[in-house]
Amino acid sequence: MPAITGEEYIRRIDALESEVWIDGERIQGNISQHSAFQGVIQSQAELYDIQHSQAEEMMTFSSDTTGHQIGTSYLIPKTKQDLQARRKMIQRWARHTGGLMGRSPDYMNTVLASYAASANILEGEENCFPERLRSFYEYAREHDLSFTHTFLKPQSNRSTLSVLDEDVTNAKIVKSTDEGIIIKGAKLLATQGGITDEIIVLSAPGGIEEAEAYAFSIPSNTPGLKFVARESFVTGKSRFNAPLSSRFEEMDTIVLFDDVLVPWERVFIYKNIKAMDDLYKKGKFTPFTLHQIVSRQVIKIELLLGIAQIIVETINISEYQHVQSKVTEIIKGLETMQALLIYSEEQGLIEESTGVYIPARQPLYIAINQFQELYPRFTEILQQLGASGMMTIPTESDFESSIGADLKNYLQATDKNGKERVRLFRLAWDISMSAFGARQTLYERFFFGDPVRLSQTIYHTYDKQPACTFAEKFMKE
Ligand SMILES: Cc1cc2nc3c(=O)[nH]c(=O)nc-3n(C[C@H](O)[C@H](O)[C@H](O)COP(=O)(O)OP(=O)(O)OC[C@H]3O[C@@H](n4cnc5c(N)ncnc54)[C@H](O)[C@@H]3O)c2cc1C
Repeated sequence: MPAITGEEYIRRIDALESEVWIDGERIQGNISQHSAFQGVIQSQAELYDIQHSQAEEMMTFSSDTTGHQIGTSYLIPKTKQDLQARRKMIQRWARHTGGLMGRSPDYMNTVLASYAASANILEGEENCFPERLRSFYEYAREHDLSFTHTFLKPQSNRSTLSVLDEDVTNAKIVKSTDEGIIIKGAKLLATQGGITDEIIVLSAPGGIEEAEAYAFSIPSNTPGLKFVARESFVTGKSRFNAPLSSRFEEMDTIVLFDDVLVPWERVFIYKNIKAMDDLYKKGKFTPFTLHQIVSRQVIKIELLLGIAQIIVETINISEYQHVQSKVTEIIKGLETMQALLIYSEEQGLIEESTGVYIPARQPLYIAINQFQELYPRFTEILQQLGASGMMTIPTESDFESSIGADLKNYLQATDKNGKERVRLFRLAWDISMSAFGARQTLYERFFFGDPVRLSQTIYHTYDKQPACTFAEKFMKE
């Protein structure tokens, strides 16, 4: 099956009837019609249509097994040009969402491709099934499956001493049968949970319990699997009122496993802590996933820069030096992130044992860790530039009412009538201040891991020796 259309994606997700709970009720009927999910499902469908309609260009590539045109986000790069093609594809989708859908399908497709490209690490290891992982990857790419995922155990006790207490929350293997493994417990969070074909479940590195060390993928409607969604941040369908949250509210879900049977053909690793750690640390997950992430984040900064500059022009504040500096801060962030991304591609290397072209890890680590600080700052800059404009944002209904003419007049800017000026500020508000906007900030801070521990990883993995050797030269007589 070649790359799917948006309609096919929606049809598949509705047909699954996965168990999704929101506000005390299980969603009945088509999830694509539910007010909390309608906007994001539609946006995701648009992404598939973009991919489908450009089937001959960089959005797809020809499958070496079936000859079908399949999504480039599934491509395992063998050359620098392949990696660049991946970036262009990722950024094409990100341009459609402003980079606001962190979990557009390319994210998890990249994750799965990176694991399949690392399957050699599992060869000969106990309770590891690299062949199943490879063939599942092929099945997924040929059917253009969409995925959510969950890694972490619930946030019940994060002390290093928590190992001394029994953890009754984390999803564990409670039984192995002829059919597969049985999972019971919870996992922290799955963005887009319930609106993808499948969920990939992996234990985070650093685990100490064998029963908590596994990697598998199951359909979202597997019996006993429940997605508990948080409150929705969609405030309505109006594109004028909520230009972003009406389209890109991805939703986050807690994942519950109520004696879920994972059939053996879907188990890639079980009860092997070392293999899980190796797959994460020695495999290609980090460089490829970060390459996808940074490609998207560059587009998101461009959107922020555009909004900031239009605010500056709209209320005519460009003559103030601090205003120029603030916009320049965003420009510097954009150029730095872009440079790190391209540098990672240029410094990439072919792994001899697999022939895979891997982007350089460090520039990407630096980029994401930097973005965890830059993104909150950039949304703060929008608030600083917009000031009260962020709160003088009447709704579409206000403009259509009998006071609409007054609002159009009194809220005008130097070059815009009141309604057009408010349209801009509603965009700035939705990205930086609405519940949706606040969640975007939390997302960029944390979704790839705690910024504090990420910076520790950089410290530990960065080769500092050449710098020390250089410095030592100046200590010699
Ligand atoms: C919007 C959003 C969407 C997400 N989506 C997904 C998803 O789809 N799938 C998924 O698997 N995960 C997802 N995540 C989870 C994300 O990976 C975690 O939030 C991240 O790894 C941090 O873990 P935590 O939230 O448990 O924070 P914690 O680890 O509980 O940290 C809380 C605080 O304690 C500090 N702290 C805790 N332990 C240590 C330590 N050992 N050393 C130093 N400081 C420490 C941290 O610095 C932080 O300040 C999502 C998160 C967010 C916010």
